[in-house]
Amino acid sequence: MTLLDLGIDIGGTKIAMGLSKKQGVGLTRKLVFSSQGKLPPTQWYARLKENMWLVLGHDLKTFQDKGRIGVAIPGQILKDGRIGHCPNTPVLKKLNLAQWLKKDFKVPVHTDNDANAAALAEHQFGAGRGIQRMVYLTISTGIGGGIIEGGKLVTGNDHVAGEVGHLIIHFDGERCACGRRGCLEAYGRGPALEERIRRRLSQKKLSVGEKQLLNLAGGKASHWRNTLISRALKKHNPVILQELDRHSFYLAVGIGSLANILNPERIVLGGGLTQLGKPLFAAIHKHLKSVAIPKHVDLRPAALGADVGIYGAIALCRK
Ligand SMILES: [Zn+2]
Repeated sequence: MTLLDLGIDIGGTKIAMGLSKKQGVGLTRKLVFSSQGKLPPTQWYARLKENMWLVLGHDLKTFQDKGRIGVAIPGQILKDGRIGHCPNTPVLKKLNLAQWLKKDFKVPVHTDNDANAAALAEHQFGAGRGIQRMVYLTISTGIGGGIIEGGKLVTGNDHVAGEVGHLIIHFDGERCACGRRGCLEAYGRGPALEERIRRRLSQKKLSVGEKQLLNLAGGKASHWRNTLISRALKKHNPVILQELDRHSFYLAVGIGSLANILNPERIVLGGGLTQLGKPLFAAIHKHLKSVAIPKHVDLRPAALGADVGIYGAIALCRK
């Protein structure tokens, strides 16, 4: 059967969509435009549809014969198909997007949370191909992820399984964006590392290493960004090594706990912070020794890069 899968990745700032006509990785057409998540629902939806038309090359007939739509949503899908809490794209809240799309395009429509979709994408097309048990974590502004067992996504009873970012690693610890305390996300997300470094650079008395970092940030602690870490690592800056080690420890406590509970064949890490590559992975591995029960944890970087969202939406069609 010829495939014609339209994957739509709805993000807080942009919407990316792509058309896939073959198994595996490869997009025939791709389009990216701003989310405008505060527009009224009908206006927002009309704009989405217009862009879908463009990607489909205005050929609705062919698409209706063999097409499918997958949508990755930055929020939860409720049991009745509507979208639940969606902080960055308020237009989606309570919207039954799948139903609207089905009615207009008359093809099967599959929706899921974007982190679950990304986990499926890495399993189908990326770093988890060919294995049965996998955990995926994306470490960026927050920490999301998904669990694959027997080649399928674990959804749980209320479709909230795989919330790996809200694994509590510190009883009574720091407040997380979800309202709970001590979640892995509160400690391991990218901005948490950035904030710890900024605090160090804001002190009155600075060490030689801290001064070097402050210089990299142009002399202002508040200008420190995680994107400067690679440059600091090239200088063998001791403060960065220390902070990265501490951050990796937090991540290892979460990852190791997941390994102990699920014993997956592989754990795939994606998201902005993993661009650091070897220094981050090596530090996590070091700390895993004291956390994980399995002797070897196969930790790998995600393979799909920036298009993981579109592939996630396409993977939803093929799960
Ligand atoms: Zn949380």
